[in-house]
Amino acid sequence: MSVTRRPLPAEVVTTRQLTPHLTRITVTGPDLGGFGYDGPDHLVRIFLAPAPDAPLTLPDADGDGWWPAVRAMPDEIRPVVRNYTVRRFDADRRELDIDFVLHGDGGPASAWAGAAAPGDRIGVLSDGAEYAPPADTDWQLFVGDETALPAIAAAIEALPSDAVAVALIECGGTPCEIPIAAPPGVTVHWLHRNGDEPGTSSVVIDTLRSLSLPAGTPYAFVAGESTMVTTVRRHLCGDLDVPKDRVYFCGYWRR
Ligand SMILES: Cc1cc2nc3c(=O)[nH]c(=O)nc-3n(C[C@H](O)[C@H](O)[C@H](O)COP(=O)(O)OP(=O)(O)OC[C@H]3O[C@@H](n4cnc5c(N)ncnc54)[C@H](O)[C@@H]3O)c2cc1C
Repeated sequence: MSVTRRPLPAEVVTTRQLTPHLTRITVTGPDLGGFGYDGPDHLVRIFLAPAPDAPLTLPDADGDGWWPAVRAMPDEIRPVVRNYTVRRFDADRRELDIDFVLHGDGGPASAWAGAAAPGDRIGVLSDGAEYAPPADTDWQLFVGDETALPAIAAAIEALPSDAVAVALIECGGTPCEIPIAAPPGVTVHWLHRNGDEPGTSSVVIDTLRSLSLPAGTPYAFVAGESTMVTTVRRHLCGDLDVPKDRVYFCGYWRR
């Protein structure tokens, strides 16, 4: 099936609370079989109605034309657009799972996800994946907070059985951990913020500095709050001399 790169209408099928602050929303739509899926951190741009009681109007544009089309829409119908990760894509069932961090009602996407119910409307645009460990990688490092957990969990679950990897995942505490089906050579460290606000803890960089990492050529995937990501990248490339092209990094949100 050919891949459609335009905003597609969809609606909520189910919602499932994974942890106190993470909810999985399954959406479906008539054209979602052609959504396309390139890999574990596949980006889905979501389109939400500008207000909870307003209708959802999607921009009528293909490819990169979607953003100018959104900007050209009048305020009262212009949708809210946010970036999320496809946790699971099922072309046959025309379904996507998206795991939303619930960080309160201050953000439209978090507020929408916290109140979502079957039948609620959303738009989704497929926008590709970035995670790409080179063939000569000996071991992988995954670093992220809850916003990167969907990408990191999907990447770990897709690793070959002999893979070597270390994952550092920042979260609120033990109730915020989720099961990840990891091959035996993968060590997952759940790093608790212990009451610190998201985006303010140094637990990730402190742990990374204290760890003895595997030998060989690494590939690192680093995503989450921008300051944490920048600090981790600086440590990897500056202190540990990991070549820049072996570190994928992305600020997923900014405190
Ligand atoms: C490539 C990519 C993939 C992503 N994948 C996911 C994903 O799968 N799941 C997911 O939950 N997020 C994901 N994110 C992050 C998500 O886009 C942001 O958290 C986004 O800001 C949420 O939008 P909002 O409308 O809820 O809040 P916004 O309107 O953007 O922000 C409102 C306020 O909330 C704060 N805020 C935003 N996010 C958080 C947070 N997580 N915790 C605490 N405070 C926050 C902001 O600092 C701001 O003050 C991804 C981002 C990128 C770039």
